[in-house]
Amino acid sequence: MLENLSQRLGRVVKTIRGQARLTEANTQEMMREVRLALLEADVALPVVKTFVEQVKQKAMGQEVAASLSPGQALVGVVNRELTDLMGGDLGPEAGELSLAVQPPAVILMAGLQGAGKTTTTGKLARWLAQGNHVQQGRKSGKKKVAVVSTDVYRPAAIEQLKTVAKQADVDWIASESNQKPADIARAALEHAKRQHIDVLIVDTAGRLGIDEVMMQEIQMLHQILNPVETLFVVDAMQGQDAVNTARAFGEALPLTGVVLTKLDGDARGGAALSVRQVTGKPLKFVGVSEKLDGLEPFYPDRMAQRVLG
Ligand code: GDP
Repeated sequence: MLENLSQRLGRVVKTIRGQARLTEANTQEMMREVRLALLEADVALPVVKTFVEQVKQKAMGQEVAASLSPGQALVGVVNRELTDLMGGDLGPEAGELSLAVQPPAVILMAGLQGAGKTTTTGKLARWLAQGNHVQQGRKSGKKKVAVVSTDVYRPAAIEQLKTVAKQADVDWIASESNQKPADIARAALEHAKRQHIDVLIVDTAGRLGIDEVMMQEIQMLHQILNPVETLFVVDAMQGQDAVNTARAFGEALPLTGVVLTKLDGDARGGAALSVRQVTGKPLKFVGVSEKLDGLEPFYPDRMAQRVLG
């Protein structure tokens, strides 16, 4: 069992009890613990460094309330700062999807192979079809949703999405592995218009690693589809590597948000902070099971708690 940050700080803080202010000297040792806690939670090293600097600046000179120990006061600062950095500063609507456009609103799914794109496509489709999405404090109503796969490389990918669509009880637009991804995208868009689909979710091919050809293909799909949402799907278990993947996708595409999957595993969720820092885009959803109801909105404060342990 990992020690949580409060316990860690409790251990080092005994030496500075009775001091009324957080100062450079008395917080130095505590900042070391903050740094270690974040690294253990898989936050990428450069992101940890920037974060620790920011916390230090915020913390210095702060009065410690009489009821708190300096350790508790510092945990408070760390918690607030982490919540802000994970999107708490963007306000409650940051995690919403922008669906208020002339239908079909297109959502483009991007990410590496195995990140959870197809599963998340099904989850999101279900979420929207059942009317679970909340916009400006109100449920946005049941949507007519269709999904399509442009993954013509992995033979099972199209079938997988078909199965998922059936489970989610949404329309599946057929595609074939001998078609070109661009042709599939154009045809799906036409189909969605004809069928008065509200939301078209487009699942794309991933690769095991960053790949120039994959990036060019998804850029082309982006151009054809003109999506309102381009969601980067990333596996929380990717840990430190999430930074490089996020940077590559963030440079290739105008992302609008991030979905962090597999949070039901033991990942502490440090990837959330890394990805938010690197892309500058809000985390919108988290995946919490393999099942199609395993999708939750992203809450910065809960994620901060999880990262700090
Ligand atoms: P894709 O290659 O990006 O389309 O990834 P898939 O959607 O095929 O997912 C890869 C694997 O991760 C599958 O076995 C999924 O069941 C699993 N998966 C996806 N999201 C989650 C999640 O949130 N939690 C868990 N436990 N498994 C997930």
